[in-house]
Amino acid sequence: MKILKDKVVSLHYTLRNDGGDTIDSSGSGEPLAYIQGGGSILPALETALEGREVGEKFDIRLAAKDGYGEHRAELVQVIPRKALATIGKIKVGTQFHAQAPGGARVMTITAVEKENVTVDGNHPLAGVDLNFSIEIVGVRDASAEELAHGHVHGEGGHH
Ligand code: ZN
Repeated sequence: MKILKDKVVSLHYTLRNDGGDTIDSSGSGEPLAYIQGGGSILPALETALEGREVGEKFDIRLAAKDGYGEHRAELVQVIPRKALATIGKIKVGTQFHAQAPGGARVMTITAVEKENVTVDGNHPLAGVDLNFSIEIVGVRDASAEELAHGHVHGEGGHH
């Protein structure tokens, strides 16, 4: 069975940056399961997976713009430390939600100085070219209930 719209796809994946560091992986546990065409994974990844079949192992490379977007300098701001009084411990790597033009964003603290803090509203993978190694381990029809809910039930999915 080929991967087409409304199929439930199960796959193992490893995601690496161009330096070969593993960023994310399905690991040795359950595969990732998603509904093709449902928009729950990167659109460019869905496109690259369309028409593939169970048992195929292959690599997909996505440029940053087709992944989590280019790194946007205007989303990096230096703000007074006291403006973050409500978020608790201020240290590099702390994340918090903030309102920004276009909706809520996850901000990450990237530098801490005596008076000021640098915060970055880019996705942590913005500007990173994505190298996926993928093995497709299952393709089946989605149930009517899964399509109505927009997510996979059972192995690799929700409840
Ligand atoms: Zn459900």
